[in-house]
Amino acid sequence: MSKTIQAVRGMNDCLPSDSAIWQWAETQIRNVVASYGYQEIRTPIVESTDLFKRSIGEVTDIVEKEMYTFEDRNGDSLTLRPENTASCVRAGNEHGLLYNQQQRLWYMGPMFRHERPQKGRYRQFHQFGVEAFGLDGPDIDLEVILLSARLWKLFGIQEHVTLQLNSLGSNEARQAYKDALVAYLSQHKEALDEDSLRRLESNPLRILDSKNEQVQALLHDAPDLLEFLDEESSQHFSELCERLTQAGIQYQVNSRLVRGLDYYNRTVFEWVTDSLGAQGTVCAGGRYDGLVEQLGGRATPAVGFAMGIERLILLLQTLGLTDQVPAPVDIYVTAVGDAVQPFALKVAELLRNQHLHWRVQSHCGGGNFKKQLKRADKSGAAVALVIGEQEAQRDEVSVKWLRHDNEQQSVSVAELGALLSTVLD
Ligand code: ATP
Ligand code: MG
Repeated sequence: MSKTIQAVRGMNDCLPSDSAIWQWAETQIRNVVASYGYQEIRTPIVESTDLFKRSIGEVTDIVEKEMYTFEDRNGDSLTLRPENTASCVRAGNEHGLLYNQQQRLWYMGPMFRHERPQKGRYRQFHQFGVEAFGLDGPDIDLEVILLSARLWKLFGIQEHVTLQLNSLGSNEARQAYKDALVAYLSQHKEALDEDSLRRLESNPLRILDSKNEQVQALLHDAPDLLEFLDEESSQHFSELCERLTQAGIQYQVNSRLVRGLDYYNRTVFEWVTDSLGAQGTVCAGGRYDGLVEQLGGRATPAVGFAMGIERLILLLQTLGLTDQVPAPVDIYVTAVGDAVQPFALKVAELLRNQHLHWRVQSHCGGGNFKKQLKRADKSGAAVALVIGEQEAQRDEVSVKWLRHDNEQQSVSVAELGALLSTVLD
């Protein structure tokens, strides 16, 4: 036997046992974005490498070590997208969607980062995200946060995620803070680990993110980002905080929250959970008012977030909340005896004609009632239709409820749909 080929490390199959929960989560997401009037944008999975270098920043974890970059046959440098904000901005500029306009967009799909695979961290993973362009006030920041909060509620995980909030201020304010941070940390180089020493030169704000305890201890007395905010950003931030409170959304201000990508300014936020170990950030976002211009468009304010769908699903599974996911089959149609097959098929097709959203599975492969009912139960269906010769002759079906206490009952084919509606709809 030849050696079997396996999936690429860190890239997962989504098997039928999991696809029900994925589809269900995706449906909730689609419903929620639609309820806020957001429109979908789909961009290619591959982009020019320069797009990510210029937007995410050369000295970030993503660009320095996580991108899948390769030369195509023409010798062009291409990259599998590690995130989708840059692509949305690229597409928006390219098609004239952004200048002097408001756009509320969303996307969902695979992203690629060459990281060490572990629970909640993969090399191909999926993000759902929203991006709102052309609006610079805290009202739109509030809207995208509310949209995410609505999802937590729908999924039943609102008690298990907390909102962390910060403001990075204007570019100038951030630069002033950077200088102050570097000045402070430079006096304590002996306490910095190798990573932080490197970042001190290249991307000092990222040191605030360090997991190293000694570094964290040092940061206790470091200058505070929020004290460096410019007047306008400060105003923006306090209005957002006020509106969040009015909307009943709890949050924690975390002045160490900086995010790993260079393009953010002003509002940044993360939804974090302590139920997933080290991979606790389920959703992250913020403002990126400079990015559109930086990528060649006219200056356009923007805010958005990205949610990790694997982490969301892991959270649902960890908290035992997957019972709310519907079984893949609603109605299982049994039929015993060759003669009744055409009748059973007619019933199944009729139900599909009447209610396309019902999932109707027809038994195939014969066998007695006992065997067929076993299958019906295994399918997860709410109801089995029992069809034998007697039923076929009378143009009737016997309805057996598999998850309810209702008695088994016979009903004419004409009345079947109405009866099933009482439980299935
Ligand atoms: P982390 O600090 O966990 O590496 P990040 O700051 O790199 O996250 P973002 O680029 O902001 O993450 O991506 C937004 C969200 O996408 C994350 O909060 C997370 O839920 C998800 N995500 C990011 N990288 C991965 C990955 N390798 N595998 C699975 N999900 C991921
Ligand atoms: Mg990361």
